[in-house]
Amino acid sequence: MPCVIKNPANINLDGLEPHVQGMYDYFNQKLGFKKPPTMYFDSDPSNQPNILGKTAYYDPSSLQIHIFTDGRHPKDMLRSIAHELIHHKQNMDGRLDVGGYSGPGYYLENDKLRVVEQEAMLEGNKLMREYEDTIKKENKNMSLNEWKNNELNKLLLKKFGIINETTEVVEEEVVEEQQEALEEETIEENTEVTEEQQEALQESVKKVLKENRTIRLRIK
Ligand SMILES: [Zn+2]
Repeated sequence: MPCVIKNPANINLDGLEPHVQGMYDYFNQKLGFKKPPTMYFDSDPSNQPNILGKTAYYDPSSLQIHIFTDGRHPKDMLRSIAHELIHHKQNMDGRLDVGGYSGPGYYLENDKLRVVEQEAMLEGNKLMREYEDTIKKENKNMSLNEWKNNELNKLLLKKFGIINETTEVVEEEVVEEQQEALEEETIEENTEVTEEQQEALQESVKKVLKENRTIRLRIK
């Protein structure tokens, strides 16, 4: 279940929101939040010039995560969210209300609060890095598969004379007309490959044809 995002700062969330939800999802899978928080993207221009000003906070009573957005890099905001998500987890587990002093400089004054803060610093960054690398790995695999499919498409289309070296773009209609023929005839005429290889290739062909409803190839 996605978490609710509110944007009183009215910043452009196009690129950021998928990562906010994706990271929330990842943290939720790992930590199992009992309830989702609500995330607020706030603006406070008076806070921005203050080098040691506010970046984010978590309100345990309303389950709200507030992120200050002024002049910040999106990834820096994600890091704040990661940190506050750990506080949210601590709150859900009844471990955040440790009592004692919680004013400015509490980290040096309140031993119990320091422990939960250290956990948020460590676990927030750690899980965010895991999320980041998971995404990077997926993107790498995706582009590799795309490349493989394109190469296979190119070979098949050349083989069946649908394209030749001078063809610039293959139109969808042409390809669709050839799909059945391709599925049936792909391998039979190739006598140099083993039956196993034929089957494997046939499977690949079917997969490629299924995945690429629109095949547009630019031939070098
Ligand atoms: Zn904290």
